[in-house]
Amino acid sequence: MYVLVINAGSSSLKYQLLNMTDESVLAKGLCERIGIDGRLVHETDKGKHTADHAMPDHGAAMAIVLDSLLDANHGVLKSKAEIKAVGHRVVHGGEAFAASVEITAEVEAAIEAVSELAPLHNPPNLTGIRACKQHMPGVPQVAVFDTAFHQTMPEKAYLYAIDYALYEKYKIRRYGFHGTSHKYVAAQGAELLGRPQSELKIVTCHLGNGVSLCAVDKGVSVDTSMGMTPLEGLAMGTRCGDIDPAVVQFIMEKEGISAQEAGDLLNKKSGVLGISGVSSDFRDLCAAAEGGNLRACAAMDVFAYRVAGYIGRYAACMNGLDAVVFTAGIGENDCGIRERVCAYLTWFGVSIDPAKNAKRGEALDISAPDAKVRVLVVPTNEELVIARDTKTVLKL
Ligand code: ADP
Repeated sequence: MYVLVINAGSSSLKYQLLNMTDESVLAKGLCERIGIDGRLVHETDKGKHTADHAMPDHGAAMAIVLDSLLDANHGVLKSKAEIKAVGHRVVHGGEAFAASVEITAEVEAAIEAVSELAPLHNPPNLTGIRACKQHMPGVPQVAVFDTAFHQTMPEKAYLYAIDYALYEKYKIRRYGFHGTSHKYVAAQGAELLGRPQSELKIVTCHLGNGVSLCAVDKGVSVDTSMGMTPLEGLAMGTRCGDIDPAVVQFIMEKEGISAQEAGDLLNKKSGVLGISGVSSDFRDLCAAAEGGNLRACAAMDVFAYRVAGYIGRYAACMNGLDAVVFTAGIGENDCGIRERVCAYLTWFGVSIDPAKNAKRGEALDISAPDAKVRVLVVPTNEELVIARDTKTVLKL
């Protein structure tokens, strides 16, 4: 039984076709530069196929995805009808969605209604949903929200200390993101430890271009570092994370820039890119730091210090800590960052084995044998969670 997973961004559309009988990936790919010119990268076990195609909009990109899946040479399907369902990543579900749902007209309207909380993300997600409706009419579709896993947070974790009327009027509060990833790696982590989630306090660290940490107590999200938008919390590739809110007004006045320009500055030109002036990519940063670039060193120091600080905060919030789980591009691959973060946490009983920490690409407990708090590396798989949820919601 085949499920197509779609992750539509403003100018891109990522896809994965999974066979849910054995959860294998039949094909995956990416349409990029939608609305500009258009480029397709399509991968199957037969190899990688890349091509330039005109993609004026997401509808055109979706047609190209389906053509690729059906292609005589690099395709994997005989007919479109083999796709039994489509699962979509939807970034913001606001307070309306605490779980994945089948997409109906009402659900589509509700996703649209929370779009003002995620103006960069929800509109392209909706475009992806509509493109699938257009090309696969009648095929059921499911929305899987980045925010849903965090809807279990208590009020004390999600309320901002601002006028309560602003929460009531505009729903300004912490929502959190990367929920699909946090939920998956917390469950995988518990499995790796051979213990039920019901007896574990875990901090999951999703360290990719976007960075967020989550306090998972008994399998439930009780706090997370991203806020109303994915700008809050840790220092990220290009996002500033936590900052004194007064800085925003100060910069706007000093630089004579608009609110929109200030938003762009904090979202796109800050984080480790902003500090280092080198790159948002940790491989470039690491190379620059090794070459003696002091700002690259400072950027990596800020990054690791904040991750460690948030782990400590969540250990306090949960009144305990059994395991720390690292995931996503940096968390899975950068042993240097893991080592730096863990060096701050020895007081908690964290101790890692350098030989295990040097390994890559597999789920692993990298703790020293006597460590009180376990440290795990777990590759995330958001597409698999979306496909599983799609299957479950539709009772396939
Ligand atoms: P996204 O949030 O876009 O899904 P990823 O999870 O792919 O991001 O993470 C991207 C980050 O992972 C980049 O900063 C990249 O430098 C880092 N990364 C990927 N591979 C490595 C590696 N081998 N060593 C260090 N960092 C890596």
